[in-house]
Amino acid sequence: MLKISGWGNYPKINCKVEIPSSENEIKFNENEKIISRGLGRSYGDSSLQTNKTIITKNLNQIISFDEELGVICVQSGISSDELLKILIPKGWFLPVSPGTKFVTLGGMVASDVHGKNHHLEGSFGDHLISLKIKISNSEVMYCSDDFNSDLFWATIGGMGLTGIITEIKFKLKKISSYKINQEVTVTQNLEEVMSLFEKYKNSTYTVAWIDCLSKGSSFGRSVFFKGEHKLSQGKISYNPKYILRIPFFFPSWILNYFSIKLFNYFYFYSNKFFTKKEVDGDSFFYPLDKISHWNKIYGKNGFIQYQFLVPKKGSLEAIREVLEKVTHSKEASFLSVLKLFKKGNKGLLSFPDEGFTLAMDFQVNEKTFRLLSELDKIVMKHSGKVYLAKDSRLSKDSFSLMNYDADGLRNILNKYNIKNFHSEQSERLNIL
Ligand SMILES: Cc1cc2nc3c(=O)[nH]c(=O)nc-3n(C[C@H](O)[C@H](O)[C@H](O)COP(=O)(O)OP(=O)(O)OC[C@H]3O[C@@H](n4cnc5c(N)ncnc54)[C@H](O)[C@@H]3O)c2cc1C
Repeated sequence: MLKISGWGNYPKINCKVEIPSSENEIKFNENEKIISRGLGRSYGDSSLQTNKTIITKNLNQIISFDEELGVICVQSGISSDELLKILIPKGWFLPVSPGTKFVTLGGMVASDVHGKNHHLEGSFGDHLISLKIKISNSEVMYCSDDFNSDLFWATIGGMGLTGIITEIKFKLKKISSYKINQEVTVTQNLEEVMSLFEKYKNSTYTVAWIDCLSKGSSFGRSVFFKGEHKLSQGKISYNPKYILRIPFFFPSWILNYFSIKLFNYFYFYSNKFFTKKEVDGDSFFYPLDKISHWNKIYGKNGFIQYQFLVPKKGSLEAIREVLEKVTHSKEASFLSVLKLFKKGNKGLLSFPDEGFTLAMDFQVNEKTFRLLSELDKIVMKHSGKVYLAKDSRLSKDSFSLMNYDADGLRNILNKYNIKNFHSEQSERLNIL
């Protein structure tokens, strides 16, 4: 047994862990509860199962790569980091990138991850061609949008509950440089930043960092980023740089209302002076990866990232209500991340859908859970939902009222006689 957790270091659970080095080594009994785990970058308990957690990181081979068409088939345990080292020098990039490259492709499918381009290019599931899934100890299924499409769409965003994804075939994005032309706009309040997303809805990448501790006339002041791939000729180089490593858990008192307020203040003012510049892709897509193990700054008790989505109509009121509650609680969050989504895909448990999504980090303490339950109420009142890849504490009642098609998922599991896949999260939320 090994005590493991998601990226939030909460909860930490004793799990029996297996790390197969080939697909043939993945073995389990007929009634055994298991779950897959990639690099454990989901924040909560979605990749944990006490009975057996299967870590896929050694299934990391490229099966085929059509360098002309930009179509690749990989084993699910390969990481985005491993893949970028091969793709970028050849002029290809991932169609969708979450905020870290230390994720497996299997994890990207199972969470149907989104990046800063969802408003134009959708989530990772929208770029898939086909999947191979081990649905029981003896049965493997192939699926795509045309073939076993119900299993395909149950697996995209399905949080590992339909089986172990072993192979993924998908379309890549052509690039001629790994540089991004970035433009930064500082906005004075929430309304202003939300209108910038509308104004720049044709820009490929948009995201905003909100200072969720500012009050009064600067309530919701933000730094809005937009970016486009630079057009260039010649060889594309890729030299990832890692600057800092957090070696130990910080004492929990270091992060408090005042230290976070100070950080947010400096972040806001430091960006006021940089409007247009060329940045390398890693700095634009994965800024936090430069500090390895940054999750330790929240201390041993860990933290929760609360990411919710609210439909576009009414989103300003909903986000304002949430931010007011957070400001009032004095439970501080570092700059929070705001993104705009277009309509979602057919993934039954997929998170993205038309609207705004906001992600905030909270250190775990006795007040956090009360605050987050209050935020759930606001989100539900506005017909919103919480992202399962970030969740470790939602109640089953709240989950059942959010826009996830758990009934649809259960029907598909019955149809294909899929029984083994249960995470600590799926049990807490009563998904199956
Ligand atoms: C700094 C940071 C930034 C992030 N930014 C974003 C973002 O911008 N957008 C976004 O969408 N997400 C974001 N995330 C979340 C992250 O992209 C997802 O949680 C992703 O699923 C993690 O991949 P993983 O390989 O670590 O999966 P894990 O965390 O190990 O697992 C996540 C889920 O995928 C399932 N799974 C993993 N592998 C398989 C497999 N082979 N077969 C079936 N199921 C499997 C697990 O059972 C679990 O339910 C971020 C996370 C971090 C730490």
